[in-house]
Amino acid sequence: MPQLNEAQRGMIAAIREFVRREVNPVAQEMERADAYPFELVERMKELGLFGAVIPEEYGGLELDVASYALVIEEICRGWMSLSGILNSHLIMAYMVATHGTREQKERFLPLMATGEKRGGICITEPNAGSDVQAIETRAIRDGDEYVVNGTKSLITNGRHGNTFALVAKSDPDADPPRRGISIFIAEKGPGFNVVRDVPKLGYKGVDTCELSFDDYRVSGGNLVGAEEGKGFYQIMSGLELGRINVAARCLGVARAALEESTRYARQRRTFGKPIGEHQSIQIMLANMATQIQAAHLMVLHAANKKDRGERADMEAGMAKLFASEMCMQVATDALRIHGGYGYTQDLPVERHFRDAPLMMIGEGTNEIQRLVIARHLLNNYPTGDFLYEAGL
Ligand SMILES: Cc1cc2nc3c(=O)[nH]c(=O)nc-3n(C[C@H](O)[C@H](O)[C@H](O)COP(=O)(O)OP(=O)(O)OC[C@H]3O[C@@H](n4cnc5c(N)ncnc54)[C@H](O)[C@@H]3O)c2cc1C
Repeated sequence: MPQLNEAQRGMIAAIREFVRREVNPVAQEMERADAYPFELVERMKELGLFGAVIPEEYGGLELDVASYALVIEEICRGWMSLSGILNSHLIMAYMVATHGTREQKERFLPLMATGEKRGGICITEPNAGSDVQAIETRAIRDGDEYVVNGTKSLITNGRHGNTFALVAKSDPDADPPRRGISIFIAEKGPGFNVVRDVPKLGYKGVDTCELSFDDYRVSGGNLVGAEEGKGFYQIMSGLELGRINVAARCLGVARAALEESTRYARQRRTFGKPIGEHQSIQIMLANMATQIQAAHLMVLHAANKKDRGERADMEAGMAKLFASEMCMQVATDALRIHGGYGYTQDLPVERHFRDAPLMMIGEGTNEIQRLVIARHLLNNYPTGDFLYEAGL
């Protein structure tokens, strides 16, 4: 455990208890039914989680990023889908808190902190995912308003959220294109349409939707930071937090998979002894635990750097890349350790196996993380000795 103050320790203990008593008993059944967790969302509101990283002056808990990551780990030990409901909401809140005008912060953050306003991020489109600058959604100024037209795909919280960070081109001719991208705080209303819920491999229970904006009108007062052309930069700063969150999710899922595997290895007997006494099972357990420990330290390293107010995109990218590949491997090994029963829906390991791949894709695919890491290395650490130059 890193150095945490009493309030932070209390928070994490409360989340562990919430997960043990209220999430674990229902996660498997709700996931299989692909049921939206309305009651758990209400409980997460009561616990203040919708305001986790929102400043106290706007009613939030103002957790530092490291504590937030630890909270997300604990939630995902129970059910990863719950963290999806929080993450894009909090990335949006973080963007408003960091880049919004005073008036925007006062209007939106207190309601977001209680969960009355539930946020999401609308970046991805049918023809633009990794290549954010290729988005085609347009926001054309019309007096005091903007008129938005376009389609957004794969948007978390699309059905149950009500207030979104909508990324659009306010200047389609800008060169480079990123200078023409702006973010609007878009509340549901005429022209904002939920087209469909997209069926998925895992990450069930959370709404992932296709949205269309058809002559949707948004007030100029909802342009984040009251300045056009800053959206690309605003997204990227929010995604740093998002990548730490995704890495923390991986840790929660991997820890659950390891806990279940350890218990099973002690109980299940073959050839006259517990399978945990066979060396090949021990090797898997040892590798799983070692990789989890490494990822945990990487997440805290990135989070601590962000908490010190330093740029952490390289560290957040590394943590997300390593943790998500680790999580996929750990989930696969957990399946192996459980033998045929791991493949059945009677045990949660198959859920971890279906949840794990999302983390290799969300908040920037791992191929994109490698580009980000390499670019930072080449541009900022020309000798390649980044550990020393970054202050170890
Ligand atoms: C369950 C779920 C929830 C999501 N929630 C949200 C959300 O709330 N909001 C939102 O905006 N988006 C969301 N997304 C979308 C997600 O962020 C994108 O899927 C992701 O960014 C990748 O974009 P893409 O799917 O268009 O893939 P593409 O960009 O088309 O990439 C396809 C493949 O090409 C690779 N690739 C692309 N460019 C390069 C390159 N330059 N070099 C090497 N390889 C490259 C990619 O790594 C990938 O392997 C969600 C996705 C899922 C699955």
